[in-house]
Amino acid sequence: MNLLEERIQRDGVVKEGGVLKVDSFLNHQMDIALFRWMGEEWKRRFAGVPVTKILTIEASGIGIAAIAGECFSVPVVFAKKAKSVNLDGGMYTAEVESFTHKNKNRILVSRQFLAPGDRVLILDDFLANGCALQGLISIVNAAGATVAGIGIAIEKGFQPGGQALRNLGCRLESLAIIEEMDPASGRIRFRPQQPG
Ligand code: 5GP
Repeated sequence: MNLLEERIQRDGVVKEGGVLKVDSFLNHQMDIALFRWMGEEWKRRFAGVPVTKILTIEASGIGIAAIAGECFSVPVVFAKKAKSVNLDGGMYTAEVESFTHKNKNRILVSRQFLAPGDRVLILDDFLANGCALQGLISIVNAAGATVAGIGIAIEKGFQPGGQALRNLGCRLESLAIIEEMDPASGRIRFRPQQPG
């Protein structure tokens, strides 16, 4: 098991409805040493892939992406969830359905911060059905930029998002892929990964 898998095994809490709580180290309290390992691991996995920018989505992607940005030495942009529909045309937008909150959010990125020459690494904490990533990919496409790759901390392999993105030919690197998890016993089984 890698560092993230070990931490999920130790501190992750399996909830009903296919939800994993990782509040104690990933998306409420943040273990920055673990984030640094994740940033370095993506850097290793995407070695040789040119990246000019990292893109994530607020809120829980930001911490991870910020540390990864340092590892890649590139600027980090996060898509904002729109509070109003007060759009001035200076924004790329996409509609995203939230897995955890079951509502729809419009996400925005200023046209200033993505350019046609950009090679964008998209990062996020979880991959479930893939709605968040589809929204981010459509924003990169709207900017005429290129998706260089996608890095995910925790992919829930029993939900369809990861397979759908791989079928589209996306280069997807998930640091931990959960095959199954059981709320009654708390047991979590990971998909075996190639050692680094
Ligand atoms: P998707 O758009 O792929 O269906 O869901 C991805 C988003 O939903 C992530 O950005 C993450 O914030 C949230 N999410 C999905 N599944 C989980 C989960 O099991 N636990 C937590 N904490 N967040 C999740």
